Amino acid sequence: MPTYVYKCPQCGKVFERFHAMSESPEVLCPECGTKAKPEISGGAGVIMKGNETSAGCCGNENPCQSPKRCCENQ
Ligand SMILES: [Zn+2]
Repeated sequence: MPTYVYKCPQCGKVFERFHAMSESPEVLCPECGTKAKPEISGGAGVIMKGNETSAGCCGNENPCQSPKRCCENQ
């Protein structure tokens, strides 16, 4: 399933969601609860791993305080 990047228009939070290409679920910002919009960049809004602005790490959906460390601890 592709990863889609969403951006909150309210606080600017950028995060990822997995869903089928045919779906367009309502995605709420994890920070403030505002309905976020998909970030379409180039292709279909699918991003490459390693994007600094992406939320989550190590395959987790939620961001952590220190992304690099949480990977080390696994
Ligand atoms: Zn927000």
